[in-house]
Amino acid sequence: MKKVAFYTLGCKLNYAETSTIGRMFEQRGYQKVDFNQNPDIFIINTCSVTENADKKCRKIVREAQAVNPDGYVAIIGCYAQLKPQEIADIPGVDAVLGAAEKFRLIDLLDGFVKPAQLQGGRVFASPIEEATEYHVSYSLNDRTRTFLKVQDGCDYPCAYCTIPLARGKSRSDTIANVVQAAHEIAARGRYAEAVKEIVLTGVNIGDFSSPAHEGSPKQGFYELIQALDEVEGIARFRISSIEPNLLTDDIIAFVAQSKRFVPHFHVPLQSGSNKVLALMRRRYRRELYAERVQKIKTLMPHACIGVDVIVGHPGETKEAFLETYEFLNQLDISYLHVFTYSERPNTAALDIKPVVPVSQRVDRSKMLHILSEKKRRAFYEAQLGKVQTVLFEDDVQNGQMQGFTQNYVRVTAKYDPLLINELKTVQLTQINADGLVEVAEEMLVH
Ligand code: SF4
Repeated sequence: MKKVAFYTLGCKLNYAETSTIGRMFEQRGYQKVDFNQNPDIFIINTCSVTENADKKCRKIVREAQAVNPDGYVAIIGCYAQLKPQEIADIPGVDAVLGAAEKFRLIDLLDGFVKPAQLQGGRVFASPIEEATEYHVSYSLNDRTRTFLKVQDGCDYPCAYCTIPLARGKSRSDTIANVVQAAHEIAARGRYAEAVKEIVLTGVNIGDFSSPAHEGSPKQGFYELIQALDEVEGIARFRISSIEPNLLTDDIIAFVAQSKRFVPHFHVPLQSGSNKVLALMRRRYRRELYAERVQKIKTLMPHACIGVDVIVGHPGETKEAFLETYEFLNQLDISYLHVFTYSERPNTAALDIKPVVPVSQRVDRSKMLHILSEKKRRAFYEAQLGKVQTVLFEDDVQNGQMQGFTQNYVRVTAKYDPLLINELKTVQLTQINADGLVEVAEEMLVH
């Protein structure tokens, strides 16, 4: 039996797709092993959001070569679609598959598809325009929470972003198929470890659109979450990230009264300056963002709101950055994900002036990381004393285990194997020196 190992870089969507491709190999009789267990085949799923991501891919190829110099190395994912020849030139790489080909990897390896049929040689990456298929994907048994892909690709023109070039046009599955996948996850979990939480993932999931069929109209993300809320066997659904202009009143109101959708919204802002938002070609202005935050907090005062923000985008003057800082500082949000702008090939942002010196990008990033810690602490303090349900995860550090509440408070408790993947109702007591929230241990008894 041939042994295959996977390594995933990047986002939840990549993890869902790697896990799905892994199951395809197992169904064909391959044995899935860890990277250091001398596999015959190494499959590396790549990211290309930053320059650093490319470097990481090269490092992992070297690792694979060190583990098994005769191993077959196949590269898939966003970097593979954007720079296939650059990767094929990395010593040790045997095959590079683009977005349209990655789900056919097993056929290539099983000789069902001869390289000649796929444009010959080791690079099998069609132009992104040909990546029009949609492949159902979800992660399973790799982590406590399952990532379920509901949408792929993106039609937005954001000036700094290469994802549309790596993943193609926005496309989704039907609501019926997504619900079917959720039932599969609930069922498959039942034998091994019941899956308690599904995280909906994609590239621009708010752009979900179930194709109209048999006379029924197109259905959107709002209809999708309504259907998923009825799936028995799954305790929690979490929306991974949603664009502010696609986060409608209906979606917010639905989550506020839903049975299974948790009060946690991760909403990319990118800048708090309308001038910079225009340069980024974002589809909203900061007023809409503030109004969305207020809507959420009105209906769910305990809701967690996470914010993506980019520092150092071309055209971000010192004044514009301070505008962003002030805007975030006065918003009732819970934490920030801070990204430092990095030049990406073939993006419109490369033509925007002035360019922000790297040293200033670093300084601005530091300031927002400090602000994020301040916001997170204030949010956690507001939750102390409350009773919440925590899903405990399986990683252990210094005899402690961790988990998340519905509203994304990171909780810590003494390690107890019986708590792994368990939902426990606990009282949040205090914030420890590591910034994690402790719970009343007596409530953890079985
Ligand atoms: S919405 Fe913008 S930033 Fe997000 S994936 Fe699409 S183009 Fe990139």
